[in-house]
Amino acid sequence: MPRLLIILFMFLLVLNGKAQKRCGTVEYMQMQRKLGKIRQTDEQFEQWFTTQGRNLLRQQQARQQAGPYRIPVVVHVIHNGEPLGTGTNISDEQILSQIDVINKDFNRLNADAISTPPEFAAVAGSMNVEFVLALRDPFGLPTTGIVRVNGGRTSWSVSQENEFKALSYWPAEDYLNIWVLNLSGGFIGYAQFPVSDLPGLEEYQDGLATTDGVVIDYKAFGSVDYGSFDLDPSYNKGRTLTHELGHFFGLRHIWGDQLCGTDYVDDTPEQRNETIGCPTHPSATTCTTTLNKMFQNYLDYTDDACMNLFTAGQVVRMQLILDNPAVPRRNSLLSSPGLLPPNCSEPDVAILDKVMPGPVTCNQNPMLRMKLRSLTCDPINTLKVQYRVNNATPVTANFTGLNIPPGSVAELNFGSLNLITGLNTLEASVLEINGIADYNPANSTYQSRILIDLASDRIPLREKFDEMTWPVITPTEGSQWQLSGTNFNTSASFRAFEAPDGPNESWLVTPVLDFSNTSRASVFFDLSYAWNGTDNDRLRVLVSTDCGDTYQNLSPPFDRTGLALANAISVTAWRPESESQWQLRQYINLNNYTGSEQVRLAFVFTNRQGNNIYVDNVEFFLSDDPDPLFLADGPFAVYWETLTEAKVTFNLDERSDVFIEILDFTGRRVAAADFKDVLNQTYSITTGTAAEGLYIFRAHIRGKRYAIKFFLTR
Ligand code: ZN
Ligand code: CA
Repeated sequence: MPRLLIILFMFLLVLNGKAQKRCGTVEYMQMQRKLGKIRQTDEQFEQWFTTQGRNLLRQQQARQQAGPYRIPVVVHVIHNGEPLGTGTNISDEQILSQIDVINKDFNRLNADAISTPPEFAAVAGSMNVEFVLALRDPFGLPTTGIVRVNGGRTSWSVSQENEFKALSYWPAEDYLNIWVLNLSGGFIGYAQFPVSDLPGLEEYQDGLATTDGVVIDYKAFGSVDYGSFDLDPSYNKGRTLTHELGHFFGLRHIWGDQLCGTDYVDDTPEQRNETIGCPTHPSATTCTTTLNKMFQNYLDYTDDACMNLFTAGQVVRMQLILDNPAVPRRNSLLSSPGLLPPNCSEPDVAILDKVMPGPVTCNQNPMLRMKLRSLTCDPINTLKVQYRVNNATPVTANFTGLNIPPGSVAELNFGSLNLITGLNTLEASVLEINGIADYNPANSTYQSRILIDLASDRIPLREKFDEMTWPVITPTEGSQWQLSGTNFNTSASFRAFEAPDGPNESWLVTPVLDFSNTSRASVFFDLSYAWNGTDNDRLRVLVSTDCGDTYQNLSPPFDRTGLALANAISVTAWRPESESQWQLRQYINLNNYTGSEQVRLAFVFTNRQGNNIYVDNVEFFLSDDPDPLFLADGPFAVYWETLTEAKVTFNLDERSDVFIEILDFTGRRVAAADFKDVLNQTYSITTGTAAEGLYIFRAHIRGKRYAIKFFLTR
């Protein structure tokens, strides 16, 4: 083989061996910027940071006296169903080795600190920090700080991060989230860089909470110094996490991500670009400086075995980020409840919600069913809950033989309630858990109002809200749906702009509707809402087929929030003045609920004191046509469907019985029909084989006679 080819071949081999790129943080932050999640540039951040940093330098000295920083860590292992300790479902030992590595590296207790060349050892820094696997979870319950989730995939890319981070996430204000998985796309890790609290960016910072933390490939997590873990030979000493945590605390790559760029740290030498592999010291930076390359720095791309220091300047920079309460989700970690041991002598249950009955029902004796969450360290076997209706004598429900695991949600049946027509109050509270008093009554004292409304109606139906005849209720205290003036005379409205309180929920509910005589049904309504730019009010449309005992989401759900709910943006009280300020004829197919005699639809508004919402012209059809004929004027329209069939579409003001007839020009009747409960339906009329010529269509509606002449051609 010619010599040139051999060299080329070896070069390719080396490339393949280095297919994994150490860090995707810079690319990740560029992606976040492209998505509009981050609006500040690196330069803006650094300018802000320099100012803040100076202000904090003095506090820094005081902070150092107070002992080490303690950072609560949660490791989310996103595996693919492998047995514990195999494949992506890495062992506890491998995770513990990684935690030990960062605790050593950040405090310069790493065994290879002696390998730092003397010229750099002089500027090496120790952060005085302790990374602690969380002692209590977000519910206050005991945890190992390790969560294992079967993600059902062999690998994940950076662009799928919303998906895998949602599989397991603890609030980033209180926990340093570390996700470990099989990361595809060539990177072995990336971090979310801190952001500033520059005015106007708050919303974007909040949007970054659910992705905040560090992602590490499972083959670069842990250290072979602690056991024979299956790790990438270049990245087998846990330095990937050390590097990424550097980014998490605000460090940039030592070469500044451009040729001889800056990392904004004074004691790291300028460097032309990243270092690959494991060079020999000294090697020149090939920038203007006479210093040697500090390829041993954790913020370079060197192999794990050849990195061994942060500089004192880097440590100060990380400490300034951590000390600054204005940097979201960094300083708050230091006072996280996750650092405290759980208090298991204080059993606690929270009442989350009432599952049954719904806020408006026709059933005066509904089953009470409630949803609770155990915040107790041991499984719950017995539970004593008190409840009462309308200030009557309390009833105590004693549940025995339960097995509710710590942290989990349970639904319990309490027996049937005795309710009166009209408004009822329900109160409930948890008394005892496993025979011990509930330690925290605040989260298990429940109050709600239930409206027994027996009104019924049938479809087709049109509600124009000239007056409020539909039941309206706010289950807790607070504002509710009312009538407000619009270009449609009056409309149903929730005035969130003026609401003095919130968040609360208000329900606007139809009467009980009979869907039993049709196999097709649909509803249209007009909707108008303006988003104020910050407060995310929400509208859901729910359905019940048991007259209101239970309500479900539609399929697909109608659930809109904030901008997605809006047809305008306004920071003043919203009121539609013309049809163009409405989202006209929102369509919902209701075929799934036909056959049922007790259908209810609920417009559920969650008030976050944003802006006003309006609903009007709610119209039920006995068809599922998403594009029905709306007549511009006149009560009906006629057209020929086939040679022997005419169609008539009605649009009446109210449900009426209608008699129709078709006459030829001699006055002879060729067809006639009687229709009951006509509102907005379309009917077929068989005409027989009528001859070409002039015909008259007559309709008798509420004592009035209407006629249309038409010419039939063949
Ligand atoms: Zn990096
Ligand atoms: Ca409680």
